[in-house]
Amino acid sequence: MNRQIAGVRGVSALLPHDTATWAAVEDLARSVLAAYGYAEIRLPVLERTELYARAVGEVTDIVEKEMYTFLDRNGESLSLRPEGTAGCVRAGIEAGLFHNQTQRLWYQGPMFRHERPQKGRYRQFHQLGVEAYGMRGPEIEAELILLGDRLMRMLGVKTRLLMNSLGTAACRARYRDALVQYLEAHASALDEDSTRRLQRNPLRVLDSKNPEMAEVLAGAPQIGDYLNADAQAHFERLTDQLSVLGVRFEVVPRLVRGLDYYTHTVFEWVSEDGGAQTAVCAGGRYDGLVAELGGAPTAAVGFAIGLERFMGLVTKVSADQAPDVFVMTPAALGASALVLAESLRNNGLRVEVHLAGASQKSQMKRAQESRARCIVQAQDEEAVVVICAGRNEGTVPWTDAVTRVTKALEAKTKHDDK
Ligand code: ATP
Ligand code: MG
Repeated sequence: MNRQIAGVRGVSALLPHDTATWAAVEDLARSVLAAYGYAEIRLPVLERTELYARAVGEVTDIVEKEMYTFLDRNGESLSLRPEGTAGCVRAGIEAGLFHNQTQRLWYQGPMFRHERPQKGRYRQFHQLGVEAYGMRGPEIEAELILLGDRLMRMLGVKTRLLMNSLGTAACRARYRDALVQYLEAHASALDEDSTRRLQRNPLRVLDSKNPEMAEVLAGAPQIGDYLNADAQAHFERLTDQLSVLGVRFEVVPRLVRGLDYYTHTVFEWVSEDGGAQTAVCAGGRYDGLVAELGGAPTAAVGFAIGLERFMGLVTKVSADQAPDVFVMTPAALGASALVLAESLRNNGLRVEVHLAGASQKSQMKRAQESRARCIVQAQDEEAVVVICAGRNEGTVPWTDAVTRVTKALEAKTKHDDK
């Protein structure tokens, strides 16, 4: 046998066992997004590296050490997308989507980050991103949160919503100075990661997942004390609206995001995973990004669900892909079985035919595993046996098989409905 070729670390296939759940969740998400008037945008996986350096930020973890960057054959630096917002804005500017109009957009697909693979953290993972443009007030933030909240409720996903405001770029700059001063005064208490971040991206120090940092961070200045009146009013209007709408949330003064483009509201839905908190979905307002990437100033807000983490929390979804009918057949009658299966499918049924030429016994085993409600056994050139819900419905000529199966399934459905 030839040597096997291993897949890339942290990059895996989604197997048939899981695709049914994913597809059911995606279908539900599509209908919820449509209910809120969001339109799909399909974005490329490749962008110029410069886009992420400028949008996400040169000194973020993503750009500093997580991107898959390479030179293409023309010597141009390209990167596999580590997130979707930058590409969405880039594509929207190019297509003129933000000119004096509002946009409600969503996308779904793989993202790539060179991180250390572990549970819930992969090198290729999937995000469902939702972005809204041209709306300045907190109402659109409330709408996005309602949308996310509805999706999670419908799927039985248990999370907590954490929120904070980072204010305007000016508020952030003032806060940043105060934070750096404090952290420098406590330099000996900082771990290696935080020491590095302190110089380059101090807000990110607050995001440290090291429990030993908790004490020093607890004493750090809080951004809430540095918001100007407008930023404070904006955040208060949002939290008031959410309270009126009955959405539960917690204001967490230390919540920041790892990407540079956020201003004002940031939020995160987290799940409790064996004591540790993991972010399932994260987002916020990024009013500066469209202009930063060469478009006209445009209000913007969005979030992204990490689908691998999200799927692990889904408790309510019906992803039944069992066939309605399983057809067992000796190899010699395979062609007739195919013809019968086509007629059954013409009647709207889902049909699986055993075409592997196995013994009657192993075919029956496979038929039962398939959880098909009805089994058709090809006997000989004349007749087939129909079995429905374990009950023998009789031996019938091939030509009567469709009618017999359909009747048996109808009777069973009526019985099940009672
Ligand atoms: P974390 O703090 O866990 O590294 P992040 O702040 O880097 O997350 P975002 O860039 O905000 O994450 O991405 C949004 C969501 O995408 C996250 O909340 C998470 O659910 C998911 N996500 C991010 N990185 C990964 C990864 N490497 N593997 C799987 N899911 C991921
Ligand atoms: Mg990360």
